Amino acid sequence: MAEMEPVIGLEIHAQLNTATKLFCSCPTEAVLDATAPADSPPEDRPNSRVCEVCTGQPGALPRTNARAVELAATAGLALGCRVNEYSVFSRKNYFYPDLPAGFQTSQLDPPICEGGGLAITDGEGREKRIRLNRIHLEDDAGKCVHDDQRGRTLVDLNRAGTPLIEIVTEPDFRSSGEVMEFLKKLHNILVHLEVTKGRLEEGEFRCDVNISLRPRGVEKLGTRSEIKNLNSFRHAGQAIEYEIVRQGGLYDQGATLVQETRLFDPARQETRSLRSKEDAHDYRYFPQPDLPPVHVSPGALARLKAAMPELPEQAEARLLALGLTEEQAAVFLDRRGAVAYFDQARPLLGDDRRLAALMVELLLPACQRDGLSPLECRVPPAALAALGKLMADNTLSRRAAYDLFPELFEKGGDPGELARSKGVLQISDTGAISDMAAEIIAANPGEARKYREGQEKILSFFVGQLMKKSKGAANPKLAGEVLSKLLKS
Ligand SMILES: [Zn+2]
Repeated sequence: MAEMEPVIGLEIHAQLNTATKLFCSCPTEAVLDATAPADSPPEDRPNSRVCEVCTGQPGALPRTNARAVELAATAGLALGCRVNEYSVFSRKNYFYPDLPAGFQTSQLDPPICEGGGLAITDGEGREKRIRLNRIHLEDDAGKCVHDDQRGRTLVDLNRAGTPLIEIVTEPDFRSSGEVMEFLKKLHNILVHLEVTKGRLEEGEFRCDVNISLRPRGVEKLGTRSEIKNLNSFRHAGQAIEYEIVRQGGLYDQGATLVQETRLFDPARQETRSLRSKEDAHDYRYFPQPDLPPVHVSPGALARLKAAMPELPEQAEARLLALGLTEEQAAVFLDRRGAVAYFDQARPLLGDDRRLAALMVELLLPACQRDGLSPLECRVPPAALAALGKLMADNTLSRRAAYDLFPELFEKGGDPGELARSKGVLQISDTGAISDMAAEIIAANPGEARKYREGQEKILSFFVGQLMKKSKGAANPKLAGEVLSKLLKS
């Protein structure tokens, strides 16, 4: 049998970062009960965030959430898609208990975005572009809650009507590694742009994998299976590995594969058949008569483009060009608000490397510990820049600066004043240091003679004495210079 190669395409669902649902004003997240104590967490009682629209009542009229449309268009712009000025919502008809209207409101033709792609690195380290087919808007279904003890199933419609984008790739992947890299990169971009909050454990970013095998060199695609609802990058990789082996085994036996939908069981590391897969025509799509076309005007698109923040890849390239290390750039991109903070502090300090080191070693760990974005903390960019300046002109030693920082982070305020109040400012005044140096030399004539006779190592003894005399406040580098000059004279 010829060597088989996997052909893989993805459908990724990302929950859009909106306050309200796609077609009504019900909140997308649990809200705090006004009568509950202030410190109690929001309680998401089943069916508490529902209305006639998201429960599919006859005659209820949906209205499209403009923010959801903007976020979908922003995703399209970031991924190089063509954003259609007009796109259409369609009803995708099927029956399921968590879908009270009997249809999902989705987009068939045309969707809001078409084309585009994202580059990844393939197994041989070459850049490979994964093409996107489309991005469309749709609403989420509710949830069935199975109560096994009492043998019944309950329906919770809080999630029904939550806005999603579905990103459909072309079948361009050839390995689980490529899929995992793509998913991480896509997730990173969409979270960075705040298109989605992307919390994997909440199912806010999940993917379906379409996978088939074909003999290498053959164009025609084999029979595919679809693995649904993978909400972990690792599980996606494991499910693909399992399917490659399973389908390969069936081909080896000469068996005929059926097109089907499968579920991945992470505990058993295997996929299981759920149902034979429907094709699009089974859903009897037709335009949703209750909604006007989705309109993204050229002006609105230009505004979204102008407001688009720097993408992670662009930010990384810029940070490296400024002299940051790859590790520092990676930390910056990983922390919300770090790049913005850095950009605000840069002109105030004028030393990018020193600033990056202060952020990576002091500011960002403290912010992470307290769950803060750097721009929300008590050390604004101007204060961190001031701390860096004190270090740059040797008024504050590195050690003293690092010792001072926790208090600065805790209480805020001016680093110079704090250092002064603690008495840790360095004496960088040559006159003051010269006076102390002269006294020390006079008090240690024997050591001074040894130095003059060529035992230059003895200079460190004098520096030590001077540091002691100044109670650690003298700038050691300057002290050494002054002492050696006086000893030689
Ligand atoms: Zn509603």
